[in-house]
Amino acid sequence: MSTFTIYIKRKGGEMEAANKAALLLKTYLSSITNTNITGTDVKVVDDGTSPTLLDTDVIVYMVRSVSKSVIAKQGGSVAIAEANEGILGLTDLNKKICEVYFDRMYEGSPKELSGAVYHEAAHILSNMDNAMHKNQDGFLKDAPDYNGSPTTKNQDFMKKHVGKAVKMNGTY
Ligand SMILES: [Zn+2]
Repeated sequence: MSTFTIYIKRKGGEMEAANKAALLLKTYLSSITNTNITGTDVKVVDDGTSPTLLDTDVIVYMVRSVSKSVIAKQGGSVAIAEANEGILGLTDLNKKICEVYFDRMYEGSPKELSGAVYHEAAHILSNMDNAMHKNQDGFLKDAPDYNGSPTTKNQDFMKKHVGKAVKMNGTY
């Protein structure tokens, strides 16, 4: 039993937006505890800081733009994001990397940023690619809507998957 933490590692983009997004995410996550975890937390760390991750923790890399992609730097493909500016983040399930693109958040919106982090965290926790979007709504559908809060369906999905060992790498 341990706390589930989502780390936002800020390699680019505004610090203030990252901190505000973390506060929103904390609210979203506060109601998704299950029998595998004792609580939830969200932390922002800066580039150069590599947090010690529990196997169950999630780290989402915040980069300025797709051109600064961590996934690409680690040999993965971001072609889908390069082709579609509506994509705010990507998860590479094989490389176990989640990232979000700050320049795509409308006016640097912390709301969109928090939603995008939530969305990518759901991909890695469920180990599901775009199949995750099927039968989902709100924050977890294809072309997600990050206004408002995650829906009950979104939260139930997170609750189902949180606490699973994902073993991500925080050193990129
Ligand atoms: Zn998705």
